[in-house]
Amino acid sequence: MVDAKDATAVALGYVADSSKADTKKFPKHEATQNCNNCAIFQGKAADAAGGCPLFAGKQVAGKGWCSAWAKKAA
Ligand code: SF4
Repeated sequence: MVDAKDATAVALGYVADSSKADTKKFPKHEATQNCNNCAIFQGKAADAAGGCPLFAGKQVAGKGWCSAWAKKAA
């Protein structure tokens, strides 16, 4: 799993719980955004964790979030 203290995670503002995102630093963050519904999340929408190309070789939390979040095409 990605540790929120990893350098890449810090740079991207990654948190394992989307509700803990730094909304002062990332005003575009919304509560509905999480890795599960991110366009580049490699797991399924209901997975507790899955791969993310930005964190090669590690897994991000399904309920996590980072500032590179992008809406998944419907
Ligand atoms: S890019 Fe998407 S899947 Fe990867 S950590 Fe950020 S929000 Fe999660």
